[in-house]
This record gives sequence, C-alpha cells and structure tokens, in this order.
Amino acid sequence: MKKFLSLAAIALSSCLFLNAQQQKNPESTEIWEPVPPVVTPGEGTQAPSDAIILFDGKNLDQWQNSKGAAAEWTLAEGAVTVKPQTGTIQTKRGFGDCQLHVEFREPTVITGDGQGRGNSGIFLQGLYEVQVLDCYNNKTYSNGQTASLYKQHIPLINACKKPGEWQTYDIIYTAPRFGESGRVITPGYVTIIHNGVLAQNHVALWGTTEYIGSPKYSKHDLKLPIVLQDHGNLVSFRNIWIREL
Ligand code: MG
Repeated sequence: MKKFLSLAAIALSSCLFLNAQQQKNPESTEIWEPVPPVVTPGEGTQAPSDAIILFDGKNLDQWQNSKGAAAEWTLAEGAVTVKPQTGTIQTKRGFGDCQLHVEFREPTVITGDGQGRGNSGIFLQGLYEVQVLDCYNNKTYSNGQTASLYKQHIPLINACKKPGEWQTYDIIYTAPRFGESGRVITPGYVTIIHNGVLAQNHVALWGTTEYIGSPKYSKHDLKLPIVLQDHGNLVSFRNIWIREL
C-alpha cells in the first residue's frame, strides 16, 4: 500500500511537472499537421476555387430529367426556371456529404397560397427535401415553410425576401450511414443558412421526406443525385455549386 502510494505520488508530481512545463511553453500545444488546403473564396456568393459548378447560368450540362434524358426546364438570362409538368431535374453525378449553395427566385406574379405559392424543393440525395416556397406574407404549416426540412424540422426563422428577389441557401449536409443489415448507424444531418441567417442548425433527419405519413429510413448509396422539384410553379434557380466534404 505504502509502495503504491509513493508510486502514485511520483506519477502525480511528474504530471504536475509536465503540466507546469506546458504552461510555460506555448509550442507544446501547437499542432502543425495536417495543413488545410488553400481555397480561394469567390466574391460574394460566387463559388470557391474547389467547388464543382452545377449551374452557372449557361447550360444544363450537369443535369438531366428523372429518366436520364435532357433536362427540359427553361434556360434564360442566366437562370433556369421550372417548366411545369416536365418533372424534376437532377444532377448527373451523385453526392453525399457536401456544402451546397443554391440561389432561387420566387415568381413575381403571385398565384396561389400556402403550399401552392412558389413551391419547389431541393432534395438532398433525391430523398430529403429542403423546402423552397414563397413564404413572404404567405401562411402555411410551419414544418412545410421555406427552409423547413419538409414535414420534419421547422426553420428557426422566416428570412424570406420578396417575390422576384434572389435568395440564397447555403446547406451543409452529412449523409446518413447505414450498417450491413440496413440499420441506421448515424442519421443525416442538415444545416441551412437562408439569406445569411441560420435556419436549421445541424438537425437530424428522421428519414426520407414523406408527403403523407411518417418518415423512415431505408438503406441507400452514399452518393445520390441532387433533385430539384417541379411543383408546378415558376421558381427559378441560378448559381448552384457544391463542395464535397
Ligand atoms: Mg416543395
């Protein structure tokens, strides 16, 4: 017992000695590796140097419709606008964990209300909807409004701009991870900044977006296309870029 106590005393005193040394020595807490890569930020909302440009206003080369044929939405004046009844468009490439920047504009000619006004959506991995809606003076259910994770998470704020003004979403997404049996190891996580204001703060997805009924997960690939929704309204998009994480 005596021996143990003296060993413990030695260990404690050497700990205290090391700690005291560290407190005197700022270099002891400096970490130099790894060195983060240099990324040149874009001006304003322009893409940083390491981003994949998904839409720069010139063409829809990165997109296709749900059947794998050319995307039919309307391209004009540096923006792409939903062409009602032509269906969703989706990226040709699949993506998982990412930082996604999207700009959208609600139609200036206001038609409909609630969910019928300027409805579109950004489906992460084609399965989890970040709602796009005109909620500027337009009431709807909170978990279906702009910047909601549709029917899952109510946004922290309503930062909608007026119809006709360009708005931004900056989305940080961590894809769900599944085990062999399909068991969820970790859920998907989403952070959304809407027009520079935090709307969703690292919320956990409950499963795939469902219009009716409860969300639930079913195992899927780690990388799947990003889908833009045709909800019949003339919502426009521009300046879409992504950084894979
Ligand atoms: Mg929608």
